[in-house]
Amino acid sequence: MQSIWEKEVRMPSFPCLDGDRKTDVLIIGGGIAGILCAHFLKKCGVEYCLVEANRLGSGTTGHTTAKITAQHGFVYHEIAGRYGLEAARQYYVANQDAIEKYGELCKEIDCNWERRDNYVYSVKNREKAEREMKVLERIGAKARLEECIPLPFATRGAVCFPDQAQMHPLKFLAELVKGLRIYENTKVTGFGGCTGAGARVVFTNHGRIVAKTIIIATHFPMLNKHGSYFMKLYQHRSYVLALKGAGSLPGMYVDEDKKGCSFRNAGEYLLFGSGGHRTGKNGGSYTELRSAAERFYPEAMEVCGFATQDCMSLDGIPYIGRYAKHCENVFVATGFNKWGMTSSMVAAMLLSDLIQGKKNEYEKLFSPSRSMLTGQLAINLAESTMNLLSFSKKRCPHLGCALKWNKEEHSWDCPCHGSRFSETGKVLDNPANGDLK
Ligand SMILES: Cc1cc2nc3c(=O)[nH]c(=O)nc-3n(C[C@H](O)[C@H](O)[C@H](O)COP(=O)(O)OP(=O)(O)OC[C@H]3O[C@@H](n4cnc5c(N)ncnc54)[C@H](O)[C@@H]3O)c2cc1C
Repeated sequence: MQSIWEKEVRMPSFPCLDGDRKTDVLIIGGGIAGILCAHFLKKCGVEYCLVEANRLGSGTTGHTTAKITAQHGFVYHEIAGRYGLEAARQYYVANQDAIEKYGELCKEIDCNWERRDNYVYSVKNREKAEREMKVLERIGAKARLEECIPLPFATRGAVCFPDQAQMHPLKFLAELVKGLRIYENTKVTGFGGCTGAGARVVFTNHGRIVAKTIIIATHFPMLNKHGSYFMKLYQHRSYVLALKGAGSLPGMYVDEDKKGCSFRNAGEYLLFGSGGHRTGKNGGSYTELRSAAERFYPEAMEVCGFATQDCMSLDGIPYIGRYAKHCENVFVATGFNKWGMTSSMVAAMLLSDLIQGKKNEYEKLFSPSRSMLTGQLAINLAESTMNLLSFSKKRCPHLGCALKWNKEEHSWDCPCHGSRFSETGKVLDNPANGDLK
């Protein structure tokens, strides 16, 4: 379904690749991550091109809620517990810098950029808010604990990050892509070997590209042979309604619980999100979201509803950097945990440094090769094993898992890695790179 952003903005179009070509850096994927990488590389004078399988911004980016914040749930307590306070501080500074970078770009781009406070609340557990606040104080973050926030239900406290931002993601990208070297409707179908000069051949549906360096920004990474992303990621789906007549909120709000609600205004609309679940599993979806909307905003009218999903990492930190230990010239940006607006900006700044051979202080924190023995890894492995072994005629072409029928959205969804297919078998969401047979 078209999002509120897609209804309002038509993205500029680009030609598809026409025959073979060579480039220094090939960026695969035209969502916010790939486009920001292209923008930074162009600024640094690096030769690049970007290929997008469909239209720019048509993936998760076109269906986001586009809050620009360094507050990604109660992630700081988790990061400090696992990697130490310095890692939590670095995560904060990297994301705050990303907001400032957006602020600079948005001085020149008309994209409804607005500074707003962001709030992460807890409905049940005040202790979680308090312990998050303690870590934030220790790393010197600008944050405060709030007792009361103007939501239509009671909370047990919220942590506020002042002076964050929100914007119209497609208005932003429609301006940013102007003058970039982009091929749309050009899908990468496979990777060949290395050429003599250390460059790699990449196959697309419209020709071959020889590139010295590759950035994989395809949302779920598309190379299965390296990096074990099929174990390190799963996808989580959520639903959003644009409501008219639901009033206006001063800030942006989200539950610390992945299944909770999210709120922000966009012009005259309230974007109300909820119903989240692992893709391919049963969950709240539109039914739960609509019944909550009726309860909280009985006077409001639904203008549009849209759903999308994001890649979730094992430890709450995105994977940005070298694709795998032995993949020297292949880079990745993924695992944004539903916070890919700021994280994509972090990715673009980090990857453009690494590609130019510059040091970047955040390389270790976001390294996709960090050790990740977590409970979520065990859940991902159990889910994959169960679905590989279970009987179903419909199987995902990605790695062969049994697909589940999603009766609300009329699609076949993969609980292992989140690929989705239409009723007629057309691929809707990757990592599957082709239709059902
Ligand atoms: C409901 C919801 C709300 C969200 N709200 C927020 C928010 O408020 N703030 C925030 O920071 N984040 C938010 N997020 C997360 C954020 O929207 C995503 O992390 C981000 O948009 C991901 O961008 P991307 O570029 O990685 O992926 P995408 O936008 O999906 O782009 C990947 C692109 O790669 C292309 N591609 C795939 N395979 C190939 C191939 N083989 N060849 C060529 N191209 C290919 C696809 O067509 C696609 O266009 C939200 C996520 C969800 C699910």
